[in-house]
Amino acid sequence: MENLWNDNEAKAFLSDPLSTRVYTSRLLGRNPALVLHGGGNTSVKAKVTNTFGRTEDILYVKGSGWDLATIEAEGFAPVRLDVLLEMAQLERLSDSDMVNLQRSAMIDPNAPNPSVEAILHAFIPFTFVDHTHADSVVLITNTKRGEDRTREIYGDRVLIVPYVMPGFVLAKAIYRMTRNIDWKSLDGMVLMNHGVFTFDNDARTSYDRMIDLVSRAEGYLEKHAQRNRNRNRNGVLDVDAVAIAGLRKVVSDVRGAPMLASINTTPESVDAASVVAGTERLGPLTPDHVIRTKRFPLIVGDTPEKDVATFVGEYDAYFERNRSGDLQRLDAAPRWAIWPGRGTLVFGRNVVELRIVHDIIGHTTDAIATANGLDGWTPLGEKDIFDVEYWELEQAKLSKQGAPAALTGKIAVVTGAASGIGRACVEALRAAGAAVTALDIDEQIEKTFDDKGILPVVCDANDTRAVEAAMEDTVHHFGGVDIVVSGVGIFPESQTIAEGSADTWDRAIATNLTSHKNLLQICMPYLMHGIDPAVVFVGSKNVPAPGRGASAYSVSKAGLTQLARVAALELGESGIRVNVVHPNNVFDTALWTDDVLEERAKHYGVSVEEYRKNNLLGVEVSAKDVAAMVTAMIGPAFAKTTGAQVPVDGGNDRVV
Ligand SMILES: [Zn+2]
Repeated sequence: MENLWNDNEAKAFLSDPLSTRVYTSRLLGRNPALVLHGGGNTSVKAKVTNTFGRTEDILYVKGSGWDLATIEAEGFAPVRLDVLLEMAQLERLSDSDMVNLQRSAMIDPNAPNPSVEAILHAFIPFTFVDHTHADSVVLITNTKRGEDRTREIYGDRVLIVPYVMPGFVLAKAIYRMTRNIDWKSLDGMVLMNHGVFTFDNDARTSYDRMIDLVSRAEGYLEKHAQRNRNRNRNGVLDVDAVAIAGLRKVVSDVRGAPMLASINTTPESVDAASVVAGTERLGPLTPDHVIRTKRFPLIVGDTPEKDVATFVGEYDAYFERNRSGDLQRLDAAPRWAIWPGRGTLVFGRNVVELRIVHDIIGHTTDAIATANGLDGWTPLGEKDIFDVEYWELEQAKLSKQGAPAALTGKIAVVTGAASGIGRACVEALRAAGAAVTALDIDEQIEKTFDDKGILPVVCDANDTRAVEAAMEDTVHHFGGVDIVVSGVGIFPESQTIAEGSADTWDRAIATNLTSHKNLLQICMPYLMHGIDPAVVFVGSKNVPAPGRGASAYSVSKAGLTQLARVAALELGESGIRVNVVHPNNVFDTALWTDDVLEERAKHYGVSVEEYRKNNLLGVEVSAKDVAAMVTAMIGPAFAKTTGAQVPVDGGNDRVV
């Protein structure tokens, strides 16, 4: 393992113990083979002079909710060391009492909650303490002869601690084990099935030791683990996007909330699926992953719905076997799945969760494959995993996330998304929590959004093949399609019927009408598996109030409206709502250049300013206003409305 210490970089941090701590914590956090997504913790002991001029010994320990990769000084909770040391003497302490006591011993009430390992950090008699969940070390402890192997690698320079649940009981167990120990004789501690600790009075030495212990484990694996990756020689099987959408719907139903799903079909992922499928007993790499991944994945076969039911049944049984008291069962929805021959899937309420689960299972499946190359993956027993999954302190980590946005877990497709109303719709739907695929023929779409929850696709709406591929991409990325905002449109140059060209007519009909019909057709199989599925077509005021010289535009938009009405008739029984929004004079769109605006104002004999507000309410209508209406039409206010046409035009005396 590479040692990332860099003298130049370090210079800026070495002025005081806490910023030194920040630096080496980030070095640990930078390597995902050491810690992932908030895992691990670090601390430093320092003397602080308080307001009354007295000097106090303080343990600065990683605060919960902070990630080592990005931690700042304020991410460390300052706790009085004497209180923590006294807590270590207690015979018994519930974890919630421990958290409260630790909070009351903080010298800054606004600091985050101290790590649950604060007591352990406190009595390790060195200034700097580093704790990671290093893949290589933990996976060796997760093999049949894990303890022997660990001893073989480190000899007696490392204290081996049998698995104990994190928190007070772990601190207490190590406190007892180390009471008469000469700490100087140790390079670190390996906690079976959990992680590694190193320590020293010098930050760099403690970090170096971590890298050294991990490198030795890696060297051991290099030498002893047979790399049998079960490479799938039959190649990758085709994945049916509609089946993914169906699976995601069933999993969402079990969760009781819409979930995203993402499939990984890389050869590595197909290998990972076959490794996991061939492993008898499954479990997480380190226990705190369980709150992200659950104890085992869903295994998808030929009947996804039944497979989910089997998963739920097994989860129920696991809960019943291990529960105590009046514990409430958590949702039984899988967080990841293996699909032999096809790859792995992850499920999550939002793209952040997808990413976390994706990263964790990547490390887990690698570890399983490597452990199987030793003498077999042997994770912790289910009771120990259960205790962490249902541990109040782990649950607190998840419940801190607050109420999710209204469209969280929903998947939207927006066409004409690079500018104007389309772009405003993408932004509004994303802000409401949906994952969005943004389609546009303009290559600018790829640079328009900087957000993992938005999948930009350069796509000509008139190219049916390209649209099909874009929808499959959407399903691979996000799991399905719930919402379609069919917004693509052109406004051809003004021509009377007498002078109208066939080309103008054909282009308007193709883009403003036929492409929408094709998109709806392509999306239908996915919408059938959608969660509260809804379609909104972007029409125009020109439907109820057409304009001279705009036959191609007005007719294509009227056709689009008629298409929406027929779709509402046909799709109602499938629970798919279809509505139309009729915007007018939305000037912040690509259709309205300054020149066009001036020309139109002149045409009506008014100023541009007057022309902009030329409606009953005397207001300017923006793309955002239309997007707000579209978002409302997708939401609960329109839950029982289909086939409707709603204007967003400030009121038009030709329509009212
Ligand atoms: Zn840990």
